[in-house]
Formats: sequence, structure tokens, C-alpha cells
Amino acid sequence: MSESSALPIPASLDETLKLMRARLSHVIPDFEIQAKAEIAHKINLLKREMNAVILGHNYMEPALYHSVPDYTGDSLQLSVVASKTKADIIVFCGVWFMGESAKILNPGKMVLVPSEKAGCSLAEGVTAEDVIALRKRFPGAVVVSYVNTYATVKAESDYCCTSGNADKVLKHLMDAGHKRIVFLPDEYLARNTASEVGVRYFAASDTDENYALLPADEPVVIGWKARCEVHELFTVEDVENIRKQYPDAVILAHPECSPEVMAKVDVAGSTKLMVDYVRDVDAPRYALFTECSMGDNLAAEFPHREMVRACSLRCKHMNTVTLEDTLEALQNLQYQVKLSDDIITRARTPIDRMISIR
Ligand code: SF4
Repeated sequence: MSESSALPIPASLDETLKLMRARLSHVIPDFEIQAKAEIAHKINLLKREMNAVILGHNYMEPALYHSVPDYTGDSLQLSVVASKTKADIIVFCGVWFMGESAKILNPGKMVLVPSEKAGCSLAEGVTAEDVIALRKRFPGAVVVSYVNTYATVKAESDYCCTSGNADKVLKHLMDAGHKRIVFLPDEYLARNTASEVGVRYFAASDTDENYALLPADEPVVIGWKARCEVHELFTVEDVENIRKQYPDAVILAHPECSPEVMAKVDVAGSTKLMVDYVRDVDAPRYALFTECSMGDNLAAEFPHREMVRACSLRCKHMNTVTLEDTLEALQNLQYQVKLSDDIITRARTPIDRMISIR
């Protein structure tokens, strides 16, 4: 499934079942496909009737990811689709901050997130008040917020970024002469990106005395303390275990993993990079250090590729969004993303900047 163009909607239950069997029969038992196909068919009928578009994040469960989304991809790809869609309703099968981004980019549309509980440890790890306090402590610093933040935080930020363009945003700011860049909220993404770009890292939890020692004319990334509760669990021992058991596996890790893990793996990158890599680069097998459904979805999409299945690490937030919830979202118009005009206006600029730096 591609993020670049909408898929035709199967017209009948038989067609839906056929399509889902073709994509899923080597990863999901047939009785489950049959049950899920009935729900997917109802969603597809409603979607057409209501002029809705469904966006599916790469971390959605396979039965959902491979049935109802018109577009799939990472946050950045789906934000671009949300900004351009002509549909009346955007159903964002992902977590709440993603729905907020869609609303900010296309405020005239009704945006639904199928689960009210779809949070994120990163988005919950920083508040607008934290950003205001950081601006006071580091006057003149430019503030970059990862897209995994709530709209109130984006509204206090200068730029947003995703894991796919964090390095480009940092380079853009350095080229523009910025010497102090506050990078929120993911400690590991900040450290990994600073190291990739070759910039000094300073933890906001460090002292003012140590901050005063930093050379004024050298760029510095100032990082926060939040972490992704899924990616922080991958360890160097996990890398070593996979190397021992599957010496031919290429290990790909998301930059929300720790710098120690990133130093040991073969490829670092966003979920989009992982999709592109598995599709385009021949390897005996692949191990993904990211949310587990991503590996399931790639195994379904590329059956000729051998994936190491390490499925103990799942995102409890992403996993609250199911096909059943997506049907209820359309039936009951729930859960609607609502933001004030002021927040939409102020959060729009950093998101637009994020989209323009790709
Ligand atoms: S995987 Fe991590 S960053 Fe993504 S939604 Fe879950 S907690 Fe947030």
C-alpha cells in the first residue's frame, strides 16, 4: 500500500475478502480475515457514503492497515495527505496528536480519531508551560518540537519535525545561523540527531553553571527528558541476541531508540525509511527495532522478505485503535478533534515549516 495515491474501494464483501486474503493470508488465519472483512466492508461503504478519507499510520494492526485506509505512511506523509484532502471527514487511524496535526492543517474538515485513549508518552512528556519556561531559561533559542507533541506545545514552538526530517530541520537552522536549538520532547531523538549532524548536545536537566561554560559561537542542541515508552525498551543485549541467532539479519532501528542501541544497529531511520529499505534492498532477513505491528505489516506487504518477528514490544496507545473502533468512529462521528482557532493559527506555522523541509 502506498502513501502517494488512494486505493480503489472494493465494492462488495466478496471483493473485500479477496483483497484481504491476498494481503494477509500468510500472517493471519482465515477465520479472522473473514470476521475482519465484514467490518472492513461496512467501513468502506460508510466511507464512500460520508465522503470520508481514512489515513492509516504504519503502526496500525495488519487487519486494519491492509483493509480500509486510503493512504498509509508515517506522520509526515499522512500530514501532507491531510493538508490536501477534499474529503469532508478525515478519520486518522493513529494517535491523538496525529489527529490534531490533521485538524491544524485542514481546519475546515471534521477530524476523527477512533480511540479517545490513543495517547503517546512523548506527547504527554512536555507541556506548553514547559516550552514557555525553556524560552525564559534559554533566551534567543529557536524551539523545535517533534511532531509527537500536542497542539498546545506546537503553538509555542518555532518549528516541528518528524523522525524523517529532524536532521534536515537541524541543518536548516544551523545554516540560518542559530546557535541554540531547543529540541523537544524526545531525549533520544535529540541526542541521535545532534550526533548525526555533528552538534554538541546539552541536557536541559543540566545546571545553569554548565550551560554558561558552552562556547557562545558553537551550535548546541538543548534536549528534554521524555522518551518513547516502546523504543526506549530496546537494548544493546537485544542487538547482540539477534546477531547471535540471525547473523545474516539487517537490523533497522528507529531513532527514538537509545544512542547506545543506534550505535550497534545497521540502519537508522524513520518508519518510512524502513518501508523503503525492506522494499528496495535485498537482504537475507530484516529485524525492526520499532513498534511490532510495523514488522507484521511489512511481512504482509512483502511476503518474499524474511522478517525476524520480535513482537513483545507494542505501543499500547496505537493498539487501542482497531477496525471495530474505526467503524464506530464513522457511525457515531467520534472522537472529534476540536482545537481553538488561536491554537490552530499558532500551531500551523511550525507544522508548515516541517512540511516544507523534506
Ligand atoms: S510508539 Fe512511542 S512515540 Fe509512537 S505513539 Fe507509541 S509511545 Fe508515542
